[in-house]
Amino acid sequence: MKGEFRSESVEREGSPPSAELAGRVVRAVEEALKLPHPAPADEALLRDVEGLDSLLEEIAALREFSLAMARGELDYGARHRGVVIGALKGLQANLRHLTWQAQRIASGDLDVRVNFLGQFSEAFNSMTDQLKGTLREKDRLAARYKDLSDHDPLTGLYNRSAFQEEAARLLTDELFRERSSALIMSDIDHFKRINDSFGHQCGDEVLRRVSGLYRVGLRQEDIVCRYGGEEFLILAPGISAGVARGIAQRLGDAVREMRIVWEGSPVAVTASFGVCALPPLGQDGFTLRFLREHVQIADLNLYRAKHGGRDQVVGGDCDDADAGAECCGPEN
Ligand code: GH3
Ligand code: MG
Ligand code: MG
Repeated sequence: MKGEFRSESVEREGSPPSAELAGRVVRAVEEALKLPHPAPADEALLRDVEGLDSLLEEIAALREFSLAMARGELDYGARHRGVVIGALKGLQANLRHLTWQAQRIASGDLDVRVNFLGQFSEAFNSMTDQLKGTLREKDRLAARYKDLSDHDPLTGLYNRSAFQEEAARLLTDELFRERSSALIMSDIDHFKRINDSFGHQCGDEVLRRVSGLYRVGLRQEDIVCRYGGEEFLILAPGISAGVARGIAQRLGDAVREMRIVWEGSPVAVTASFGVCALPPLGQDGFTLRFLREHVQIADLNLYRAKHGGRDQVVGGDCDDADAGAECCGPEN
């Protein structure tokens, strides 16, 4: 401000005391702030204060400028325009950057960090951190629930619906879609007798042990599920029914040779198997009907194995995948 009070001008002979003059100046300034243009209360007195005119002009100009800003006239007053517009442009650039960062967050990139506007950055960054933590926990829980819903709690094997999902994935995979595959259905022999003789807990232990044997006795790419009580279904992709038959025989040997002692008594366990060839899907899509029809054939062969005396494999002695049950009949 240019206006300065000079003591000698207000202490001239006949002039009012300084305090009175100061009071009038304040009132005049207050008056000027109320009116659109400065209207000094006492022209004679104010003449004695050097610079008061320009002070009042400054105040009036500032007032005009504030009103213009309030009306949204951003280019009002050439002197101030640069500063105001510069600040607004800076703010606009920051907001544009913030919009872009918010869009990145919306698209899933939670590593976004902002570093302007002080406390705002802290709040924004802690929001993305919390969001990241929440999503990580959600993913962990989703994986846990998926795992629980896909597996049989007793044996840890896939259940039927997870088996269907995995079978669809494997049989349509380009590695296997042009090749024959095989299904093996297995059922523990006289399992009811085991339960009746040794109790259900022993039966459960037998189920766990047989599951373990099937898991380690199969290839990495094979999948096995607990199909029912003491029934297991195996999909061996990319191999002929003949090879699958060999696998089933090895699994049968492993079950027969398994040593289980329950409360001091040995538990003899055997299993029967039905094998069925699956033709390549080629360009056809996987359908549950396709799977069901072939599971029925494997089941029919398992039934034949039971009737043939149990502890044996039926099916897979013909590699013609399209021949189905007719070919994969009981051994002669
Ligand atoms: P087969 O040789 O003809 O297959 O005779 P099986 O006795 O094995 O077959 P059956 O269908 O007569 O009996 C199966 C039994 O399996 C009946 C059921 O109580 C029992 N079971 C089913 N699920 C479980 C389970 O989770 N734990 C136990 N311990 N037993 C089960
Ligand atoms: Mg059984
Ligand atoms: Mg059964």
